[in-house]
Amino acid sequence: MDTSADRIADVWGSRTPYEPGTPWPSRTDTHLAAGLGEQDVERWVQAASLLHSNGDAMDIAVREGRMVGVRGRAADRVNRGRLGPKDLYGWQANASPDRLTRPLVREDGRLVECDWDTAMDRITSRTRRLLDDKGPGSIGFHTSGQLFLEEYYTLAVLARAGLGTNHLDGNTRLCTATAAEALKETFGCDGQPGSYEDIDHADTVALFGHNMAETQTVLWMRLLDRMEGADPPRLVCVDPRHTPVARRADVHLAPRAGTNVALLNALLHEIIRTGRVDRAYLDAHTVGFDELAAIVAECTPGWAAGICDVPTAQIERAAEILGGAERLLSTVLQGVYQSHQATAAAVQVNNLHLIRGMLGRPGCGLLQMNGQPSAENTRECGADGDLPGFRNWQNEEHVAELAAVWNVTPQTIAHYAPPTHAMQIFRYAEQGSIGMLWITGTNPAVSLPELSRVRSILAQEHLFVIVQDLFLTETAQLADVVLPAATWGEKTGTLTNADRTVHLAEKAVDPPGEARPDLDILLDFAARMDFRDKDGGPLITWHDPESAFAAWQRCSAGRPCDYSGLSYDRLRGGSGIQWPCTDEAPDGTARLYTDGIDFAHPDVCESYGRDLVTGASVEPVEYWALNPDGKAVLKAAEYLPPHEDTSSDHPLQLITGRTVYHFHTRTKTARAPELNAAAPDVWAEMSPAEASAQGLADGDLVQITTPRGAVRARLRTTAIRDGMVFLPFHYGYWDTPAGHHPPDDRPGRAANETTVTDWDPASKQPLFKTGAARVTLVSRRPTDTAARTDTTGSGS
Ligand code: SF4
Repeated sequence: MDTSADRIADVWGSRTPYEPGTPWPSRTDTHLAAGLGEQDVERWVQAASLLHSNGDAMDIAVREGRMVGVRGRAADRVNRGRLGPKDLYGWQANASPDRLTRPLVREDGRLVECDWDTAMDRITSRTRRLLDDKGPGSIGFHTSGQLFLEEYYTLAVLARAGLGTNHLDGNTRLCTATAAEALKETFGCDGQPGSYEDIDHADTVALFGHNMAETQTVLWMRLLDRMEGADPPRLVCVDPRHTPVARRADVHLAPRAGTNVALLNALLHEIIRTGRVDRAYLDAHTVGFDELAAIVAECTPGWAAGICDVPTAQIERAAEILGGAERLLSTVLQGVYQSHQATAAAVQVNNLHLIRGMLGRPGCGLLQMNGQPSAENTRECGADGDLPGFRNWQNEEHVAELAAVWNVTPQTIAHYAPPTHAMQIFRYAEQGSIGMLWITGTNPAVSLPELSRVRSILAQEHLFVIVQDLFLTETAQLADVVLPAATWGEKTGTLTNADRTVHLAEKAVDPPGEARPDLDILLDFAARMDFRDKDGGPLITWHDPESAFAAWQRCSAGRPCDYSGLSYDRLRGGSGIQWPCTDEAPDGTARLYTDGIDFAHPDVCESYGRDLVTGASVEPVEYWALNPDGKAVLKAAEYLPPHEDTSSDHPLQLITGRTVYHFHTRTKTARAPELNAAAPDVWAEMSPAEASAQGLADGDLVQITTPRGAVRARLRTTAIRDGMVFLPFHYGYWDTPAGHHPPDDRPGRAANETTVTDWDPASKQPLFKTGAARVTLVSRRPTDTAARTDTTGSGS
């Protein structure tokens, strides 16, 4: 049992070393409200973490109708009882006194409280008017990665079959879209090939743009325990910052931002040049090797060194480790996904595994990680810019099949173009073709790039904005209707983590005031709109989480993300279970692609792929010609320079990222005292040498300026590449006097004041890691500040 009092300072807790091929030992982490012991807990209620994508299973401690703590679930395959700082302390936000408890509507420019009928009537009457006047394309939805599967599925059905709009996407566009796209490009279909258990077997682990130590703290504990045990894996880290992962790595490559494709092409070049290619695997399971080999033929380590500003010998050393691995696990996250050529780079990691035949065996895993707790569910359920069940919008049979599941005509389901991505939804709202935007559980007024533009879009008179959330976020302050939502611990549902593990999270306590579960709100809307199927029956036939789950099981049956063998009962009591879970695989499936590539056949695949440079969709006939047998596609990409590079005006590369103590826009974590105290305000990071070259020193108040805007922050000098400045993106304005924007005419504190409206052509994920900035002195560090006060590291 680890009940360490201070898991802020001791983020990963004590070590439980283990050897390759043996199970990860359990360690049960607990945190209870001050003064309480386990004997004071009246009930423990099963749940899983909602503050990151790792899927840590936990029990909620309940006393006198309130949440009073959490305890890790030792039986669970994901965390074996461990919890990270956000898990241990984040639950306190639920009882925050500023929770929304009643709906709000805008009257004479002000948000005022009202009852649910008033709020829902406003929404339904606006919906009907827009449908009559402008059609379903005038309505858009921007959802979250923090709801439950049952809620996303209901949202997808009501949006796609009830209203018939194509404009439904999540804020998962910001963090997991490239993971999904990279998997679709290579394997024809989304679905994480690997398993967390691959850490137990790997002899080499490579982390590409993934500061696992801070973004998935419990997964990092597992890796630390391997590294402390006998026969530890070798570690390769690609990150421009000297993160905790970098500090443990055998090789740390710190490239210039925006150059990942050059680096990865050089690694592929070396592996091919040194004959470390698994020819038998390539012949049996892939197409496209000759083109890949031709494109990387000129990409020598020396060539990449000049572009990435990484020593040639380091690239060669990394290639030697990756080429020599017998059980290679790779993970990828925002350092790749939010950077220039995001999908092209993520796909090269897939290529690395394919040319080495490192898939489908213990230790040979590929984890294109997610950012949010239920990002996977947005992808499966079609709440993220795809059709439910990983169905292909270009395949008429898939659309017809979905229409049959919903008992609507295929024409009801908009499939004239790819489902609209979030950046385009906001563009349509800006242009006026979208007149109503319903935002559930997310905060684009802090999380999207170029915030002055986002605020002006949300504030437009013609746009009717609905926000469904726990708090009066920066976005909610701009809304026309605000609906108070329940959260984790106050409602029941399932969520699926980054390695396909499905967890059940049960209701432990009542939501505050009149707040309602998101599912109830969506079902209420559907009932008021009286959505019907093609025979005149109700379109949505479910009424609670378990019946919604059953409906989703019918939709997923036979598709790669098959949930048909699961049930709430099977998810109660023991461990989470990995999909696909069927009659044939009743205990779930640890790894995909154990017997070849299952989902890339043209009749089955979720996507025919895209051009990685232009983003244009590949036509079905082209895909049939390229890949008639449904093998994995080795998709090559040439390096292209970033769109916005440094200049004399903006001489530094700007990257944004995260800290271990906060999640997303701090809506919950800033309301947990320990987490907020650990990272209360924005800061900027530069290397000591770069700071000195710019005439700056640690602790100075500096201004970071880009062509979009400016932010003021205290400077920390840290081990980061020279020529670069880092800003954590979590900070907004709800806890400042200005409320939802920077103080008048002054620089703000939200990193996205400075970021550019630009996205990856294939995944449409915004690029937060390739801007250019200048950093100037505002004022010197106060002389009475004895020492740096931060305890934080920060994420990739
Ligand atoms: S912080 Fe970024 S990566 Fe994490 S969930 Fe939010 S958008 Fe995704």
